[in-house]
Amino acid sequence: MKILNSYTQTGKWWRGSFHNHTTNSDGWFPLETVYKMYGGYDFLGISDHDKITKHEGERSIPTVFDAIEVSSRQTHMLLVNPPHTMLDDYSNEFTIENYQRLADMAVDNGGFAVLVHPNRFFSNYWTLEDMLKLERYIGIEVYNGDGNPEYDIAFDKWDALLSSGRKVWGFGNDDSHVYGQEKRAWNMVQAEENTNEAITQAIKNGNFYVSTGYGFDAIRTEGHTIIIDLRSNELLDKMYKYVTFFGKDGRVLQETTGRISQATYECKGDEGYVRIAAYLEGGYGAFSQPLFVESSK
Ligand SMILES: [Zn+2]
Ligand SMILES: [Zn+2]
Repeated sequence: MKILNSYTQTGKWWRGSFHNHTTNSDGWFPLETVYKMYGGYDFLGISDHDKITKHEGERSIPTVFDAIEVSSRQTHMLLVNPPHTMLDDYSNEFTIENYQRLADMAVDNGGFAVLVHPNRFFSNYWTLEDMLKLERYIGIEVYNGDGNPEYDIAFDKWDALLSSGRKVWGFGNDDSHVYGQEKRAWNMVQAEENTNEAITQAIKNGNFYVSTGYGFDAIRTEGHTIIIDLRSNELLDKMYKYVTFFGKDGRVLQETTGRISQATYECKGDEGYVRIAAYLEGGYGAFSQPLFVESSK
């Protein structure tokens, strides 16, 4: 049995979001205000609809990313670090061919593509069929902070893609448009330094997790055992935790609860993958990327 763990390269944890709007599309606030709303973040992407908003003016956020949200009537796709030449011959028309062309341009420019709010059924969402047709995207938004619990969570689609053999990462973003939508969901990226290159590389490697307030100190393996070091300190250690290990098709493999700072899971070999959701009492969550379990048979 072999366990592929994307968290082996250790470093510091950096907090940020890639999907947020300004008045350059349908956000309520200009760029300078959005920077202030995200004070304390280590990195931030601005992804206006069908536009690449130029980063300019004063900001305290050390690292910023160019991004665009390709926004057809059917589906939305986030491209981080798209080439600006993409806009020369731009169309947001939803065909697999056009979306693939745009995703390829971002990937070939050193960036990445994420399928966003896949379950927003009342407006722009992804069918599993289309998600399986498109290639080269790095992940999907499993947690969108827009504020509709029925539509902004997509762990089911993630499990479906993973179970069909796609290696895609889960992202958490605010998709902030208005005041009050900031700092709801984000990505914690493990990298040695906070630069565009290091953050991008860590994202590509899957060395990040989604947070809505709680976190992991480390995700490790020893032999066939997955070890989850929950974010720990004197105050947090007194609080109750709920840790769930999920496998192929979203099957619950194990649940561990208690006033714990660590949870472990012994792999059997038939899991396909193992992903972890951890909640602190009060509901603050942390959601790991899948660790892929390859049986030796
Ligand atoms: Zn959108
Ligand atoms: Zn958006």
